[in-house]
Amino acid sequence: MKVLVSGIVDLSTIDYPKKASAVIFLHGCNMKCPYCHNLKYVLEHKKEMTVEELFNNIDFFFADAIVISGGEPTLQKDAVIGIARYAKEKGFPVKIDTNGTNPEVIEELIKDNLIDYVAVDVKCRFDRYKDFVKCREDGKEIKKKILKIIELCKANNVFVECRTTYVPRVMGKDDIEEIAKTVKDCDLYAIQQFEPKDAYDDEFKKLPMPKEDELKELGKIAKKYVDNVVIRTINGTFEV
Ligand code: SF4
Repeated sequence: MKVLVSGIVDLSTIDYPKKASAVIFLHGCNMKCPYCHNLKYVLEHKKEMTVEELFNNIDFFFADAIVISGGEPTLQKDAVIGIARYAKEKGFPVKIDTNGTNPEVIEELIKDNLIDYVAVDVKCRFDRYKDFVKCREDGKEIKKKILKIIELCKANNVFVECRTTYVPRVMGKDDIEEIAKTVKDCDLYAIQQFEPKDAYDDEFKKLPMPKEDELKELGKIAKKYVDNVVIRTINGTFEV
């Protein structure tokens, strides 16, 4: 089975909470998030390899976990399952980053005991999805899928994080409140600091980066609904 890989990072201390991880970026995505930093890269770079070749390309000197990311990794279902199985056989915990559009892939990973941590992006308020991330499905459908992922994870003791990148001027307190209300059963809700510098959409490059205090206020709003809330900034992760 072949995997389409855009990139590998041998060691990351930020992609798998509390672990040093190797991150595999799979090719392709079904969204066009205006703030995305790596969409261009994952669409333009594509190397075909087997799972064994992929793992032979990773330097495991420091990493003790695997993160499968993208792009949207679940677009390559067999590859994701192959990578997770291989990683588990080697004894690594596995995390997947997903935009939530393919819960059936998460279901299969859970069924085969191949996943420890699922991080689901909630891009914006669900009624704004189609317009915001230029995806095919409407927000109602995506909401159902994200709720299904949360339910599957909770029923099977797989840690599930939901996370939103907060973009000032484009989003407001109401957006975070609405999202937090919807994903209230997740294990962790993270509000991430938007970084304009490498945004995919040039208009978003002109928007300001939200201040830490602003994110903390948003965190307090989210905390009314979700037990565990953090904010993630360029200076680190802070509990709310
Ligand atoms: S941030 Fe959006 S566009 Fe970028 S890789 Fe993730 S889902 Fe795709």
